[in-house]
Amino acid sequence: MLTFIYALGIVFAFVVGAVIGSFLNVLIYRIPRNLNFWKGYSFCPACQHRLYPKDLVPVFSYLLLGRKCRYCGQPISPRYMLNELLCGGLGVAAWCAFLEPAGFLRALLNNNHTTPALLAAALYFAVLCILLVTAWIDADTMDIYDGTNIALAVCGVASIFIGPEMPLRTHLIGAAAVSVPLLILSLFVSGAFGLGDVLLMAAAGLFLGWQGAIVAVFVGILIGGAYGAFLLATKRKGGKEHFAFGPALCIGIGTAMFFSQPLITWYSGLL
Ligand SMILES: [Zn+2]
Repeated sequence: MLTFIYALGIVFAFVVGAVIGSFLNVLIYRIPRNLNFWKGYSFCPACQHRLYPKDLVPVFSYLLLGRKCRYCGQPISPRYMLNELLCGGLGVAAWCAFLEPAGFLRALLNNNHTTPALLAAALYFAVLCILLVTAWIDADTMDIYDGTNIALAVCGVASIFIGPEMPLRTHLIGAAAVSVPLLILSLFVSGAFGLGDVLLMAAAGLFLGWQGAIVAVFVGILIGGAYGAFLLATKRKGGKEHFAFGPALCIGIGTAMFFSQPLITWYSGLL
Protein backbone atom coordinates (compact mmCIF):
# COMPACT_ATOMS: atom_id res chain seq x y z
CA MET A 1 0.00 0.00 0.00
CA LEU A 2 2.80 2.40 0.92
CA THR A 3 4.61 1.57 -2.31
CA PHE A 4 1.45 2.36 -4.24
CA ILE A 5 1.01 5.70 -2.48
CA TYR A 6 4.68 6.48 -3.03
CA ALA A 7 4.36 5.71 -6.76
CA LEU A 8 1.23 7.83 -6.90
CA GLY A 9 3.15 10.76 -5.39
CA ILE A 10 5.89 10.43 -7.99
CA VAL A 11 3.40 10.24 -10.86
CA PHE A 12 1.66 13.32 -9.45
CA ALA A 13 4.98 15.22 -9.29
CA PHE A 14 5.85 14.18 -12.85
CA VAL A 15 2.48 15.21 -14.31
CA VAL A 16 2.51 18.57 -12.53
CA GLY A 17 6.10 19.08 -13.70
CA ALA A 18 5.25 18.26 -17.32
CA VAL A 19 2.22 20.58 -17.36
CA ILE A 20 4.30 23.41 -15.90
CA GLY A 21 7.05 22.56 -18.41
CA SER A 22 4.50 23.20 -21.15
CA PHE A 23 3.91 26.67 -19.70
CA LEU A 24 7.67 27.23 -19.44
CA ASN A 25 7.89 26.57 -23.20
CA VAL A 26 5.56 29.54 -23.62
CA LEU A 27 7.79 31.72 -21.42
CA ILE A 28 10.95 30.61 -23.23
CA TYR A 29 9.34 31.56 -26.55
CA ARG A 30 7.70 34.80 -25.48
CA ILE A 31 10.14 36.50 -23.06
CA PRO A 32 12.86 37.19 -25.68
CA ARG A 33 10.21 38.28 -28.20
CA ASN A 34 8.71 40.75 -25.73
CA LEU A 35 5.32 39.05 -26.04
CA ASN A 36 2.84 39.20 -23.22
CA PHE A 37 2.79 35.81 -21.51
CA TRP A 38 -0.13 36.12 -19.13
CA LYS A 39 -2.69 36.77 -21.80
CA GLY A 40 -3.30 35.83 -25.38
CA TYR A 41 -3.67 32.29 -26.64
CA SER A 42 -1.00 29.82 -27.70
CA PHE A 43 -0.27 29.67 -31.40
CA CYS A 44 1.78 27.64 -33.84
CA PRO A 45 5.10 29.41 -34.43
CA ALA A 46 4.96 28.46 -38.14
CA CYS A 47 1.39 29.30 -39.21
CA GLN A 48 0.22 31.41 -36.24
CA HIS A 49 -2.96 29.30 -36.03
CA ARG A 50 -4.54 29.34 -32.61
CA LEU A 51 -3.83 26.19 -30.58
CA TYR A 52 -6.62 24.64 -28.50
CA PRO A 53 -6.36 22.54 -25.34
CA LYS A 54 -6.42 19.34 -27.45
CA ASP A 55 -3.25 20.59 -29.18
CA LEU A 56 -1.54 21.47 -25.93
CA VAL A 57 -1.61 18.29 -23.84
CA PRO A 58 2.02 17.88 -22.78
CA VAL A 59 3.94 15.16 -24.64
CA PHE A 60 0.77 13.40 -25.90
CA SER A 61 -0.37 16.07 -28.38
CA TYR A 62 3.07 16.11 -29.96
CA LEU A 63 3.22 12.34 -30.36
CA LEU A 64 -0.43 11.85 -31.40
CA LEU A 65 -0.21 14.61 -34.02
CA GLY A 66 2.77 12.86 -35.59
CA ARG A 67 5.23 15.58 -34.50
CA LYS A 68 3.67 18.20 -36.74
CA CYS A 69 1.22 21.07 -36.49
CA ARG A 70 -2.44 20.00 -36.88
CA TYR A 71 -3.20 23.04 -39.01
CA CYS A 72 -0.24 23.64 -41.30
CA GLY A 73 1.56 20.29 -41.16
CA GLN A 74 4.91 21.96 -40.42
CA PRO A 75 7.15 19.75 -38.27
CA ILE A 76 7.36 20.82 -34.61
CA SER A 77 10.75 20.80 -32.92
CA PRO A 78 11.10 17.96 -30.40
CA ARG A 79 12.57 20.44 -27.90
CA TYR A 80 9.13 21.38 -26.54
CA MET A 81 8.33 17.79 -25.67
CA LEU A 82 11.84 17.17 -24.32
CA ASN A 83 11.47 20.22 -22.12
CA GLU A 84 8.14 18.93 -20.79
CA LEU A 85 9.68 15.53 -19.99
CA LEU A 86 12.71 17.20 -18.39
CA CYS A 87 10.49 19.45 -16.30
CA GLY A 88 8.47 16.40 -15.20
CA GLY A 89 11.76 14.80 -14.12
CA LEU A 90 12.70 17.94 -12.19
CA GLY A 91 9.31 17.82 -10.45
CA VAL A 92 10.09 14.26 -9.35
CA ALA A 93 13.57 15.29 -8.18
CA ALA A 94 12.21 18.13 -6.04
CA TRP A 95 9.50 15.84 -4.70
CA CYS A 96 11.86 13.04 -3.73
CA ALA A 97 14.33 15.45 -2.13
CA PHE A 98 11.84 16.52 0.53
CA LEU A 99 8.90 14.14 0.76
CA GLU A 100 9.21 10.68 2.13
CA PRO A 101 6.68 8.01 1.08
CA ALA A 102 3.12 9.12 1.76
CA GLY A 103 4.39 12.49 2.94
CA PHE A 104 2.06 14.27 0.59
CA LEU A 105 -0.99 12.58 2.08
CA ARG A 106 -0.05 13.91 5.47
CA ALA A 107 0.54 17.29 3.87
CA LEU A 108 -3.00 17.17 2.48
CA LEU A 109 -4.23 16.43 5.98
CA ASN A 110 -2.34 19.55 6.99
CA ASN A 111 0.04 17.88 9.36
CA ASN A 112 2.40 20.65 10.41
CA HIS A 113 5.42 18.43 10.24
CA THR A 114 5.10 17.79 6.51
CA THR A 115 3.76 21.08 5.21
CA PRO A 116 7.17 22.81 5.37
CA ALA A 117 8.62 19.89 3.38
CA LEU A 118 5.98 20.42 0.72
CA LEU A 119 6.80 24.15 0.66
CA ALA A 120 10.51 23.41 0.38
CA ALA A 121 9.85 20.97 -2.48
CA ALA A 122 7.72 23.60 -4.24
CA LEU A 123 10.46 26.21 -3.77
CA TYR A 124 13.09 23.83 -5.14
CA PHE A 125 10.88 23.08 -8.12
CA ALA A 126 10.30 26.80 -8.74
CA VAL A 127 14.06 27.41 -8.77
CA LEU A 128 14.60 24.49 -11.17
CA CYS A 129 11.92 25.94 -13.48
CA ILE A 130 13.59 29.37 -13.44
CA LEU A 131 16.95 27.75 -14.24
CA LEU A 132 15.35 25.85 -17.13
CA VAL A 133 13.88 29.05 -18.60
CA THR A 134 17.15 30.97 -18.06
CA ALA A 135 19.21 28.23 -19.72
CA TRP A 136 16.96 27.89 -22.79
CA ILE A 137 16.67 31.63 -23.34
CA ASP A 138 20.43 32.11 -22.94
CA ALA A 139 21.07 29.24 -25.38
CA ASP A 140 18.63 30.82 -27.86
CA THR A 141 19.60 34.48 -27.52
CA MET A 142 22.93 34.64 -25.57
CA ASP A 143 21.09 36.82 -23.08
CA ILE A 144 20.07 36.34 -19.47
CA TYR A 145 17.03 38.48 -18.69
CA ASP A 146 16.56 40.56 -15.55
CA GLY A 147 13.09 39.04 -15.10
CA THR A 148 14.40 35.50 -14.57
CA ASN A 149 17.21 36.75 -12.31
CA ILE A 150 14.72 38.73 -10.21
CA ALA A 151 12.47 35.65 -9.93
CA LEU A 152 15.49 33.64 -8.77
CA ALA A 153 16.42 36.33 -6.23
CA VAL A 154 12.86 36.20 -4.85
CA CYS A 155 13.27 32.43 -4.40
CA GLY A 156 16.61 33.15 -2.71
CA VAL A 157 14.88 35.39 -0.17
CA ALA A 158 12.12 32.79 0.29
CA SER A 159 14.74 30.08 0.93
CA ILE A 160 15.87 31.96 4.05
CA PHE A 161 12.45 31.13 5.52
CA ILE A 162 11.37 27.84 3.95
CA GLY A 163 14.48 26.22 2.47
CA PRO A 164 16.80 23.70 4.09
CA GLU A 165 18.15 25.15 7.30
CA MET A 166 21.14 27.43 6.84
CA PRO A 167 22.38 30.47 8.80
CA LEU A 168 21.35 33.82 7.34
CA ARG A 169 24.99 34.89 6.88
CA THR A 170 25.61 31.78 4.74
CA HIS A 171 22.89 33.01 2.37
CA LEU A 172 24.21 36.58 2.35
CA ILE A 173 27.85 35.61 1.79
CA GLY A 174 26.58 33.23 -0.91
CA ALA A 175 25.11 36.16 -2.86
CA ALA A 176 28.59 37.73 -3.13
CA ALA A 177 30.99 34.76 -2.92
CA VAL A 178 30.90 33.97 -6.63
CA SER A 179 29.19 36.99 -8.18
CA VAL A 180 31.80 39.53 -7.02
CA PRO A 181 34.81 37.59 -8.39
CA LEU A 182 32.88 37.05 -11.64
CA LEU A 183 32.12 40.76 -11.82
CA ILE A 184 35.81 41.64 -11.35
CA LEU A 185 36.77 39.03 -13.94
CA SER A 186 34.25 40.43 -16.41
CA LEU A 187 35.71 43.93 -15.97
CA PHE A 188 39.24 42.77 -16.81
CA VAL A 189 38.59 40.05 -19.37
CA SER A 190 36.09 41.49 -21.80
CA GLY A 191 33.44 39.03 -22.89
CA ALA A 192 34.40 36.41 -20.28
CA PHE A 193 31.11 36.73 -18.45
CA GLY A 194 28.17 39.02 -19.02
CA LEU A 195 26.39 41.03 -16.35
CA GLY A 196 23.54 38.52 -16.68
CA ASP A 197 25.86 35.70 -15.54
CA VAL A 198 27.04 37.83 -12.59
CA LEU A 199 23.47 38.57 -11.45
CA LEU A 200 22.48 34.93 -12.01
CA MET A 201 25.24 33.80 -9.64
CA ALA A 202 24.31 36.49 -7.09
CA ALA A 203 20.68 35.33 -7.01
CA ALA A 204 21.64 31.64 -7.03
CA GLY A 205 24.23 32.23 -4.30
CA LEU A 206 21.60 33.80 -2.08
CA PHE A 207 19.58 30.62 -2.49
CA LEU A 208 22.43 28.10 -2.22
CA GLY A 209 24.65 29.69 0.42
CA TRP A 210 28.33 30.25 -0.23
CA GLN A 211 29.42 26.60 -0.23
CA GLY A 212 26.72 25.73 -2.74
CA ALA A 213 27.56 28.77 -4.87
CA ILE A 214 31.20 27.68 -5.12
CA VAL A 215 30.16 24.13 -6.07
CA ALA A 216 27.75 25.60 -8.67
CA VAL A 217 30.34 27.78 -10.39
CA PHE A 218 32.93 24.98 -10.24
CA VAL A 219 30.58 22.49 -11.95
CA GLY A 220 29.41 25.21 -14.36
CA ILE A 221 32.94 26.08 -15.44
CA LEU A 222 33.80 22.38 -15.89
CA ILE A 223 30.73 21.84 -18.07
CA GLY A 224 31.09 25.14 -19.95
CA GLY A 225 34.81 24.48 -20.49
CA ALA A 226 34.16 20.97 -21.80
CA TYR A 227 31.47 22.32 -24.11
CA GLY A 228 33.78 25.12 -25.33
CA ALA A 229 36.55 22.60 -26.00
CA PHE A 230 34.06 20.45 -27.91
CA LEU A 231 33.03 23.45 -30.04
CA LEU A 232 36.67 24.27 -30.79
CA ALA A 233 37.61 20.67 -31.52
CA THR A 234 34.71 20.21 -33.92
CA LYS A 235 35.36 23.68 -35.41
CA ARG A 236 31.81 24.80 -34.71
CA LYS A 237 33.16 28.02 -33.20
CA GLY A 238 36.44 29.87 -33.61
CA GLY A 239 38.70 30.70 -30.66
CA LYS A 240 37.47 34.29 -30.41
CA GLU A 241 33.77 33.58 -30.61
CA HIS A 242 31.58 33.50 -27.56
CA PHE A 243 29.02 30.98 -26.56
CA ALA A 244 26.29 31.19 -23.96
CA PHE A 245 27.68 30.28 -20.55
CA GLY A 246 24.30 30.49 -18.81
CA PRO A 247 23.18 26.92 -19.50
CA ALA A 248 26.41 25.54 -17.98
CA LEU A 249 25.97 27.76 -14.91
CA CYS A 250 22.34 26.66 -14.60
CA ILE A 251 23.36 22.99 -14.68
CA GLY A 252 25.99 23.80 -12.05
CA ILE A 253 23.40 25.51 -9.84
CA GLY A 254 20.96 22.62 -10.25
CA THR A 255 23.72 20.14 -9.35
CA ALA A 256 24.70 22.15 -6.28
CA MET A 257 21.06 22.24 -5.12
CA PHE A 258 21.02 18.48 -4.71
CA PHE A 259 24.62 17.37 -4.39
CA SER A 260 26.70 20.19 -2.92
CA GLN A 261 27.22 18.42 0.42
CA PRO A 262 28.34 15.05 -1.02
CA LEU A 263 30.49 16.86 -3.63
CA ILE A 264 32.22 18.95 -0.94
CA THR A 265 32.86 15.83 1.16
CA TRP A 266 34.18 13.93 -1.84
CA TYR A 267 36.43 16.78 -2.97
CA SER A 268 37.91 17.44 0.47
CA GLY A 269 38.68 13.71 0.65
CA LEU A 270 40.84 14.10 -2.47
CA LEU A 271 42.96 16.88 -0.98
ZN1 LIG B 1 1.04 25.47 -37.82
